[in-house]
Amino acid sequence: MVMTPVAGKLRNTSSLALVLLLTIAGLVAVSRFNYLLFHALIELLSIVVGVSIFVLAWNSRRYLENQFFTLLGIALLFASGLDLLHMAVYKGMGILPGYGPNLATQLWIAARYLHCFSIVIAVMVIRRPVSTSLLFWGYGVTTVLLLWSIFAGLFPVCFVEGTGLTPFKKYSEILICSTFGIGLLMLHRQRDQFSRWVYGMLVASLLTAISAELAFIFYVNVYGLSNMVGHLFKLISFLCLYLGIIRSGLEDPLEVVFHEIKVKDEQLVALNARLVNTNEELETRVAARTEELRLMVDNLHEQARQLEEEIAERQQAQEELKRAKEAAEAANHAKSAFLANMSHELRTPLNGVVGMAQLLALTNVDTEQKEYLDTLQYSADNLLQLISDILDITKIEADQYELHSSEFSVRECLDQAVGMLQRRIDEKGLNVTVDISDAVPETMIGDHVRVMQIMTNLLSNAVKFTEKGSITIAASIKEQHDSTMLLELTVSDTGIGIEPDYLGHIFDTFTQVDDSPTRKYGGAGLGLAISRKLAELMGGSISVESRLQQGSSFHFLLPCSVPSRPNRPHAALEDRVVPRFAEVPAICSLPVLVAEDNPANLKYAKKLLEILGCKVTEAVDGKEALEAWEQGDFKLILMDIQMPVLRGDEVVKIIREREQDRHVPIIAVTAHALMGDQERFAAAGCDGYLAKPFQINALTDAIKRVMH
Ligand code: ADP
Repeated sequence: MVMTPVAGKLRNTSSLALVLLLTIAGLVAVSRFNYLLFHALIELLSIVVGVSIFVLAWNSRRYLENQFFTLLGIALLFASGLDLLHMAVYKGMGILPGYGPNLATQLWIAARYLHCFSIVIAVMVIRRPVSTSLLFWGYGVTTVLLLWSIFAGLFPVCFVEGTGLTPFKKYSEILICSTFGIGLLMLHRQRDQFSRWVYGMLVASLLTAISAELAFIFYVNVYGLSNMVGHLFKLISFLCLYLGIIRSGLEDPLEVVFHEIKVKDEQLVALNARLVNTNEELETRVAARTEELRLMVDNLHEQARQLEEEIAERQQAQEELKRAKEAAEAANHAKSAFLANMSHELRTPLNGVVGMAQLLALTNVDTEQKEYLDTLQYSADNLLQLISDILDITKIEADQYELHSSEFSVRECLDQAVGMLQRRIDEKGLNVTVDISDAVPETMIGDHVRVMQIMTNLLSNAVKFTEKGSITIAASIKEQHDSTMLLELTVSDTGIGIEPDYLGHIFDTFTQVDDSPTRKYGGAGLGLAISRKLAELMGGSISVESRLQQGSSFHFLLPCSVPSRPNRPHAALEDRVVPRFAEVPAICSLPVLVAEDNPANLKYAKKLLEILGCKVTEAVDGKEALEAWEQGDFKLILMDIQMPVLRGDEVVKIIREREQDRHVPIIAVTAHALMGDQERFAAAGCDGYLAKPFQINALTDAIKRVMH
């Protein structure tokens, strides 16, 4: 069985208690025979204990951190001196015969004052460094002063024979008890500074000291019971001091002298244990964290690997995308080239068809033939329009569309657009109004050919989709900033209108609201798509508002600039205006060389030139053309570009190299109408350019331009 230190000490002390009881009993018995002996023995025992505590504290003062013992030892030494004197002058001892019992009582009180106040002071200085020599001297002087005051008769009287204790003595006892009590309380607050055993013994000593003083309050005479009980309590009080300080101090110095070391040692052990625990905990946590980190690193590696794979996949996808894009671009380019070629190939024979029909119309034909001829011309016109639209779309999509800005009259443009569709308007009996706001300037700068194209398209749709009612064409200025304006051209009709669901799609290519196989209205669904694209190319826009069965309004917004000095504007249309032959004037009677491999086109061009009064020489390929030029003196050459043996542009180059002072005007004629063609022909040496199929007024305009 493990025994706590206190329990062990109590057990050891039980035998001592037995000895104490026997001693007390012996002393009580002794007091029956000789009270003085009893008194002397008790005082001597307390003196021995007091002096021993001093000896112990004094000799270990260098190691003591707890100054309580130092102070108590010195105080008890001097109190023991007073107690020794008290014992010596006790009534009946006869050592100082001249003094009565008052002297012993005064010495007793003085010793007790010294004792009780020292307890309070000792608790107060428990943690403070004290100078032992100063204490020694202090207590020495106090004791001497007390003795001096007693023997000089200055100390208050404590006992009067026959009367008993004086009030001073009684109040002093109460004061001493209270001081011990205060000491007890103060000691309790500092109990951590002592081992449990030592603290217990100190408390027991103070309690028995208080009991002794209380007993002495009732002192009657030397042999009285209270006197004996008081002395016995004093004996027990000092015995407790002996057990708590002297015996413990000698048997187990860690309890008293090295208590601090013991406490610190215990704290160290506890700290060490905590350190070990903390260390173990830390190691566990470090291991867990290391594992976590390892998993994280593995995870990161995995993620990095996945990322690398993803990047590689993306790179591959990008490569594929790039290849697909290049393939799509190549396909798109091929498509554009194909469409351009196709339109060229279609335009060439169509030129012949249109031209021949026009020539035929000039001959004497009967009514039935005239009707067939009209249908032929109408169909050829439609086909030509479709080819032109396809070519336009192709050029826009291939970014090959060129704009040519020049001065033009908005009013003339609109009038011509109406004029072109006049026949159909009249057929349907529609009422067309052109409303031009006063704010619209007389002339503006823009690509009038494209403006005309858009307006003709919008107007032709309005005519197409309006059975009865009216069409209004309005021009106004929406915004104006200095010389730039936002021109708004509106075409409104009272026609069939457009279903709301289709409104958002009518500007898409090949889109028609009525896409049933038995469509009532003709068209390819390209007109609006081209119009919007052209408007956007010019920095403008087209929008639509429409209500079913009530009509539609198309708004064409076009940024234009105003010329600083207005000139005579260009005619609105070139090759798209259907000419009236009767209006075409004969230019002159020039010798003209026409180089053209297609017989129909050659015939057509020759006939037109003859109408204009020209003398025409024919050449069917490049070589023949060159030879004809060398032999003749031509005032004008119409040079087809696409010719066998020698290409037209090559012939032009040779002519330009060979001719000296004389410069023959050459007009390039081609069904190619792609961007850069004009520049190419101009670079070869051509003076003008005519796109097939051409009408007579386009021819006259071209001739006028090159002939000045
Ligand atoms: P299309 O040559 O077929 O007329 P567009 O691109 O010019 O092609 O027009 C596309 C479609 O938009 C037409 O087929 C028609 O359904 C509708 N549309 C265009 N203008 C009008 C209008 N003024 N009134 C009613 N519908 C119209």
